[in-house]
Amino acid sequence: MPTAILYIRVSTGAQAARGYSQRSQLDRLEKYCRDNNVKIYDTVYEDCSAKSFNRPEWKKLFSLLKTKKTGVDMLLFTSWDRFSRSIIDSYTMIEKLKALGVSVQTVDHPVDFNTVESKYRLAIHFAESEAENARLSERVKRGILKAKQEGKWIGKAPLGYQNRQTSNGMKYIALKEPEAKLLKKAFEEVAKNIFSVGDVYSQIVSEGLQCSRSNFFRLLKNPIYCGKIRISESDTGREYDIDGVHEPLISSVLFEKVQEVIEMRQRKTSKRKIICEELILRGFLSCPECGKSLTGSASKGRSKKYHYYHCHPGCHFRRRADEVNLQCVEFLKKLKANEPYAALVGMIQENIKTASDLKNEAERAQKASMVERFSDKMVNAHDLFVKGDIDYDDYLLIQSNCKRQIKTCVEEVQQLAVLSKTVPFQEVSCILDKLYDFYKEASIEVKREFISYILPEKTTLLEGGFDEMINEPTRIVFNIKSSNPKQGDEDNGAGSFQVMDEKYLAFIEDYFTEKKMAQPANVKNIVIFLKKITLLIIRG
Ligand SMILES: [Zn+2]
Repeated sequence: MPTAILYIRVSTGAQAARGYSQRSQLDRLEKYCRDNNVKIYDTVYEDCSAKSFNRPEWKKLFSLLKTKKTGVDMLLFTSWDRFSRSIIDSYTMIEKLKALGVSVQTVDHPVDFNTVESKYRLAIHFAESEAENARLSERVKRGILKAKQEGKWIGKAPLGYQNRQTSNGMKYIALKEPEAKLLKKAFEEVAKNIFSVGDVYSQIVSEGLQCSRSNFFRLLKNPIYCGKIRISESDTGREYDIDGVHEPLISSVLFEKVQEVIEMRQRKTSKRKIICEELILRGFLSCPECGKSLTGSASKGRSKKYHYYHCHPGCHFRRRADEVNLQCVEFLKKLKANEPYAALVGMIQENIKTASDLKNEAERAQKASMVERFSDKMVNAHDLFVKGDIDYDDYLLIQSNCKRQIKTCVEEVQQLAVLSKTVPFQEVSCILDKLYDFYKEASIEVKREFISYILPEKTTLLEGGFDEMINEPTRIVFNIKSSNPKQGDEDNGAGSFQVMDEKYLAFIEDYFTEKKMAQPANVKNIVIFLKKITLLIIRG
């Protein structure tokens, strides 16, 4: 059974409320302990601000825990703002306590400290606890809902609009150029349904709209642009739109049309991904008789379906797909990387890892400091509002803006966490020796991507099989001899070659010089090829 010390803190403010606050905190803490089977060792009362841990009762408590004689393994608070208001201080303190075998937990917002995102979740609690625990929390919520129901946009104006104020102090949002014009054009282009939403985005950005891709997709779904305010489900139990008092950017008809197009396109893209395994090489091969690219289809035999790769009408060339696929598999089974390329892959892999780790680390640190800045800003705004230095509308504006920013940061950090999880660092060079094992377990998309790396841009289907058909880098890396080394292949994206790769070239050069062998001519293509394969293996 865990043993806890309950910590109750009241701020040195309203005298009358103090007694009430203490009792209410104690009630909740005791209930938590009963419900979760936690033994109570002691209860500590503090009457001090949470600006730092330099509080008399806290210092005594901490010295007591340092003796490790209590058997206490948990400090329990009602909410995070009872613990501290500074994220940095909190984290330092949490680490110190952890070293003493003591965990910190709250009744209102339990945080699982074993996950990467916990720090950011905690940051949000810090930011939000101010509003939640404050006397005016309910008033704030009610105020926002009431304003929305009156058709007013609350908070920072969305892209294309700006916050304004009438001469008698009424706040409203008004169209802002040139963003409004550009966004309107974006809605119109998406509705035409000629280009993909992504293409429309690129075009509008090139014309000067400053907006992230994900935000752009979100904006297209926001009914604010056709003059409506959305009341969310969490506010009233059901979601609905009401007419806003602001000037619409586009008509409701255009807005609905855009929603339709977005939905339709989403359905389409998810459908297109289905490729059939029986025709896995479809799209890679061209006809040995006329040179056109081969397509594929199934035809019904007496007892089962047969799949064929065949040419277009007018040319009668066709081959049984299962036979060609089998040739491909037989070829893949014998692939084994040659020195020095197997060693080179180790280097490439190391580089990819370092680069992505560094990038992740830097981004994470940046997000963390942003979260902290916005939390501070929120707490500040609250203080200013209570003191009467800013008015209610400004307070709401700052608060909703900060919350949105924090939420975005947290989402981005969560994405980073996913990314770094998908880079398990197995021995890629080992896999290069047993490529077929990797291939056969891979998804059909990864299989096709792999095939696209080993075949030239245009691959004529040859009787001699894949030994004859593969591109030059594959031939060299896996040491495949050909009786007929003639497949046009000089491109392979050498244009994307980067300066960073110079050291790979040096490595290869040293190797061949040492062995007194002639170095292959298109080493750059080989490095690019290996890099693509390495990335695929890491991802796949
Ligand atoms: Zn043909």
